[in-house]
Amino acid sequence: MSDVCDLYQELIIDHGRRPRNFTPLENANHIQEGYNPLCGDRLTVYLQEENGIIQNAHFVGAGCAISMASASLMTESLKGKSLSEARSLFDNFRSLMTGEKLTIDTQQLGKLIALSGVAEYPSRIKCATLSWHTMMQALTGEKLLHE
Ligand code: ZN
Repeated sequence: MSDVCDLYQELIIDHGRRPRNFTPLENANHIQEGYNPLCGDRLTVYLQEENGIIQNAHFVGAGCAISMASASLMTESLKGKSLSEARSLFDNFRSLMTGEKLTIDTQQLGKLIALSGVAEYPSRIKCATLSWHTMMQALTGEKLLHE
């Protein structure tokens, strides 16, 4: 089990230090800024959506390793997803963070499972969910309540 934990930690450290898709996206048609006042994490999510499919996802910002790693892994996960799949992934990731184990689809989450340990640190959950809430806001144009 500790090997698995180490692997997960490495993935978070790696994505936190070298976030993927970490540039503004020129042809983005959904752009949204997000801010987590509890930690000071700030980011902007860029989505390029065509005919209901997310073709590309990028972000820029500054914050703690968890917020950067979560955003980085999220952008990788979103490419090629339909809007309803993105919504479902959002719900799934939120369940992972709130510890609703029965509703978690681990197969759908894939690498995002690496962030499961964050659920044990309530003060850091908003760091991990910031990019996700920002992504949903970018897609729907609505400000979702942060729980
Ligand atoms: Zn943070």
